[in-house]
Amino acid sequence: MPMLPDPAQKYKPYTPLNLPNRQWPSKTFTKAPIWLSTDLRDGNQALVNPMTIEQKTNFFKEVVKCGVKQVEVAYPSASDTDFAFVRGLIEKNEIPDDVWIQVLTPAREDLIRRTIDSVAGAKLAILHMYNATSPTFRNVVFRNSKEQTIELAVKHTKLVRELTEECTQKYGTKFIYEYSPETFTQTEPDFAIEVCEAVKKAWGKAGLGDERIIFNLPSTVEIAPPNHYADQIENFCNKISEREKIIVSLHPHNDRGTGIASAELGVLAGGDRIEGCFFGNGERTGNVDLVNLALNLYTQGIRPNLDFSDLQNTIDVVTACNDLPVPARYPYAGELVYTAFSGSHQDAIKKGFEAQRARHEECRAKGEPLMWDIPYLPIDPADLGQTYEALIRVNSQSGKGGIAYLIKQHLHLDLPRKMQVAFYQVVQEVSDREAREMTVDDITSIFRRAYHFGSSYKGRLSLRNFKISALSGTEKPKPTSDTDPESEEDDSQRRFDGTVSVDGTYRVIRGSGNGPLSALLNALRTHLDLDFAIREYSEHTINDVDEGENARAATYVELVPASDRKATQSWWGVGVDSDIARSGLRAVLSAVNSAIADGREISELALGFQPKSSGPEDVASVIVNQLGLELPRKFQKTFFEVVQRKALEAGGEISINGVTQLFKDTYNYQNEGPTKVALDSFKLDHLDGHRRALSGSFTFFGGSPRTISGSGNGPLSSLLAALHTQIFGTLSIRDYWEHSIGEGSEVRAASYVELVYEVEDEASKKSKSSAWGVATDTDITASGVKAVLNALNDLEIALKN
Ligand SMILES: [Zn+2]
Repeated sequence: MPMLPDPAQKYKPYTPLNLPNRQWPSKTFTKAPIWLSTDLRDGNQALVNPMTIEQKTNFFKEVVKCGVKQVEVAYPSASDTDFAFVRGLIEKNEIPDDVWIQVLTPAREDLIRRTIDSVAGAKLAILHMYNATSPTFRNVVFRNSKEQTIELAVKHTKLVRELTEECTQKYGTKFIYEYSPETFTQTEPDFAIEVCEAVKKAWGKAGLGDERIIFNLPSTVEIAPPNHYADQIENFCNKISEREKIIVSLHPHNDRGTGIASAELGVLAGGDRIEGCFFGNGERTGNVDLVNLALNLYTQGIRPNLDFSDLQNTIDVVTACNDLPVPARYPYAGELVYTAFSGSHQDAIKKGFEAQRARHEECRAKGEPLMWDIPYLPIDPADLGQTYEALIRVNSQSGKGGIAYLIKQHLHLDLPRKMQVAFYQVVQEVSDREAREMTVDDITSIFRRAYHFGSSYKGRLSLRNFKISALSGTEKPKPTSDTDPESEEDDSQRRFDGTVSVDGTYRVIRGSGNGPLSALLNALRTHLDLDFAIREYSEHTINDVDEGENARAATYVELVPASDRKATQSWWGVGVDSDIARSGLRAVLSAVNSAIADGREISELALGFQPKSSGPEDVASVIVNQLGLELPRKFQKTFFEVVQRKALEAGGEISINGVTQLFKDTYNYQNEGPTKVALDSFKLDHLDGHRRALSGSFTFFGGSPRTISGSGNGPLSSLLAALHTQIFGTLSIRDYWEHSIGEGSEVRAASYVELVYEVEDEASKKSKSSAWGVATDTDITASGVKAVLNALNDLEIALKN
């Protein structure tokens, strides 16, 4: 059947109360009401599958933990499960001393008896009796007159009094009596009051404090807007006698979706107490939600006497018990409540937090309270145990402000505005491509990948080591840029010497400029044919007090092609380091990495190592980076000459790998090739004092092995003594150096020996030559011995026999 063109033919409107002097509209909230959770009774009755005793027990513990002091635990006469549950709570001592359990009973003698039996022995109990009072129920359901309806309530109230008094005598249980004129909102207002007056008289002992009688005035079914409910409550409060001896309790349902409003206006109208359920479970559209009501008060600065510091846990317990999900947009508790997807919202929240931080610092200094005032957020999520992480989420509707906020929160980087725009585009691309919401982790890793930020996000280019030095006056090149951020620093020139890894290959590069960054750019241009200029530069310190770290510098640069400073395409880079110069260099490399992420070739020619523009340290850098060997300074010079000769042969160019190979070939390093003198095995003996004796099986120029020995002040002099038995002339060690390579069980010794050989030829002409040898071994003596033998390779030794 379709909806009617004229619903007035089917539905009649509520009849407003004539209450010209109503006071509630101008009242405000001042304190929390008394809360009653009826999750285990009204809520439980409404479930497809009522809770098990275990679930009810968990639920009971949770509401008590949250601070609820009155809990309607059951309708004991309705089922054995409910009866057993109440007995269980009492007998297992599950009820804290200050918590009232409440049980519901209809106005029927046998049921009242069983209900009171169920609570016998409890310390505090509220006996809640109801009977329906509205015309429909009187006329249709029970066929009772008004008088019979009153008589029913009166008679059973007297019975309740008699039985509860007996119970108190026997078991010491303290009772409060609660009476509900069920369907109050549909009952004639004066008749509802008449019934309650009669009940109060029958009870006969309403007093003050805990002696008060509770009149619960349910909107059993919501039939009117909340102002009407408030009028009904205010009317009742005005007319009922001995108001001070009464707790007016509200029990709103939510048929019209205004349960919360009814409860709140009802409190303004005089209600003292609210019956409801956590997250609004209950018959049909549910009972009023206590969590929502409590947090509404909290955000008005009123202590709700309920604690939801760990709201998620409360949600978890409740949903596990009643199997009803909390909707994503549910007030305070919904999964999406503390998130902002819209860019303008995120931006406002970000600015709000920044302004609040500054404001709070001032307030803290003045000893004033730190008031919460953030756009779009009526409550601080942290108060409910929610983290800010969930606060800003990113989808295709999100903006750069929110993303920048996340980067600031998680990486402590305060991106310059233009970089925010650039990064936002990167995120949008990923978000669009993957058609899903981006998490915080997604965004931080997109950032790290995009800007090669962090050691696991290296780009094609990374800095191995470098040195910045001042250039002497004559070498100064002309300033290259007038927008150079460093041009005003000072007028002395800087030189950059460093080793970079380019696609995994080490390159020694060198350049000069007004400062470290322009020197690096110059080096990249000279050696790698990468020609960029800085268009924007900014820096800030990261004072990460939380993590107890020292201050670090964050630098941001925007690079453009040097030939086109107004280019629309640019690349941002970021660097962080405890040293400001290093953080700038990292930022430049970060941006360069973005620029070369297009996969452009860095040409083989540009990869060349040019001895003309390099020095011994450059060669040493290559060797330390490629092989881990830290050549002694004199060795560096010797090898540099070898490189220069080789480069000359090759037409001025030698590749990095060429340098490494040349080193290996020249010094028989890691080559395992044949050597002039080979040692099959040796043994070292300790003689008196420092003296050692070395003996071993040697092969000279591939001949048959000879066992020889010699002694000296140490292993190497013993070795030389042994060699002297086989060769003409004298060997001596001019320079010796050693260090370790690697760590832990991988650690090896590296030895460097400069060996000098002096010999007289047949014409008694003296000749003197020298050579370097290098070797590594897990045993330091063996590495020294091998280094000597490798050095011998380069000498024209004359063998005896
Ligand atoms: Zn109800």
